Amino acid sequence: MDFALSDEQRMILDYGDQLAKTYDREYWLAKAEKHEFPMEMWRQAGEDGFIGVMVPEEYGGAGLGMMELCLLMEGLANNGVPLLFLVVTSAMSLGYLAEYGTEEQKRKYLPDACTGKKNFCFAITEANAGSNSMKIQSIAKPVGNDRFLLNGSKTFITGADVADYGLVVTRTTPFAEAASKTDGFTLFIVDMNAKGVEKQPIDISIKAPEMQFQLFFDDVELTQDDVIGEVDKGFDILFDTLNPERIMVAAMGIGLGRYAIDQAVEYTRDRVVFDVPIGSHQGLQHPLAAAKTEIEMASLMTHKAAWAFDQGQPAGEYSNMAKYFGAEAAIHAVDAAVQCFGGNAFTKDYGIFDIYPLVRLLRTAPINREIILSYIGQHVMGMPRSY
Ligand SMILES: Cc1cc2nc3c(=O)[nH]c(=O)nc-3n(C[C@H](O)[C@H](O)[C@H](O)COP(=O)(O)OP(=O)(O)OC[C@H]3O[C@@H](n4cnc5c(N)ncnc54)[C@H](O)[C@@H]3O)c2cc1C
Repeated sequence: MDFALSDEQRMILDYGDQLAKTYDREYWLAKAEKHEFPMEMWRQAGEDGFIGVMVPEEYGGAGLGMMELCLLMEGLANNGVPLLFLVVTSAMSLGYLAEYGTEEQKRKYLPDACTGKKNFCFAITEANAGSNSMKIQSIAKPVGNDRFLLNGSKTFITGADVADYGLVVTRTTPFAEAASKTDGFTLFIVDMNAKGVEKQPIDISIKAPEMQFQLFFDDVELTQDDVIGEVDKGFDILFDTLNPERIMVAAMGIGLGRYAIDQAVEYTRDRVVFDVPIGSHQGLQHPLAAAKTEIEMASLMTHKAAWAFDQGQPAGEYSNMAKYFGAEAAIHAVDAAVQCFGGNAFTKDYGIFDIYPLVRLLRTAPINREIILSYIGQHVMGMPRSY
């Protein structure tokens, strides 16, 4: 067993670190304040070949794996610069396309997506279905031989404003008529500027550059060329590839946790009350040390999940555990850091409290803690289904 990173993996971690120093936390916060997408940074990552880390080289990517994409996220988030769009685009959309797209789709979409010239968002969530994706109601009704008309809506779709295309999960057979509850789903590539697509921003109380949107589809015309995989069989590939999302979210939480701990360690060395640096008080030191331990343990599980995914082994168990613990460890870490800063934690100058909403989000989205624990209870431990 070898826990060391290869030279190439170390280089990717360092690249993330460097990119986050060029486009640093100050840059990220300025963008976050205005909810303005960090396009210069995104394009830079694309030009340097890092958006398509997992895309084969013949389609413009780097031909690397989940571990490398995960390390890129860690390198960025370690500096307090999480790039949420890497989850939505690089791990989710481009991953699906590279794995399940037709040759024509891969040639058409991937090269420009890898450079950041064309962007993808990923849309599954619907207001009425929530965590129960089986109950989504948007539907692309087959019309004639190879056409479909898409109707319905999606909610909380990250980066829909800067996306040229959306990977949209929709029904092609209504729930009531499907052979089983997982049957009747299809994944489509939808042109976000097509007739019948409308976007409405959602106001979110989280400091992040990426915006969230409601999408409305009104008779959007699609063809067989827009289908990824097989009509009605989208669920099989969908659940195969949600693991990268879990791994990336864990990596983001881990990086942000490390960033918060680093800031707190520095602050508690310098801040003196009652004649000694506050870091010497175990009341602050131990929660930070415990948080550091949790973060590094979460990192181990996240790397194990990425490794299993890259080996083509079942990665659901490790990915779900990594997502659960990555989010929890990040919340604990930021909470411990906030305590160290006292009142200063809540000032804009120090910006520590700003990290909290983002890591707290990770417990809920893109998949909530309870669904993750149910997965572990049922699929890993063999306990009875709870829903
Ligand atoms: C900032 C942000 C970005 C997002 N980006 C995207 C995106 O790009 N694309 C996309 O498709 N979606 C996106 N989402 C949606 C996200 O995936 C959902 O919000 C999330 O899956 C939870 O669904 P819900 O909000 O409908 O919560 P609900 O399903 O209403 O659940 C509410 C709460 O109930 C509990 N709960 C639900 N079911 C169970 C159960 N079976 N057992 C125990 N407890 C349960 C959970 O604690 C959950 O937090 C985003 C959301 C946010 C906030």
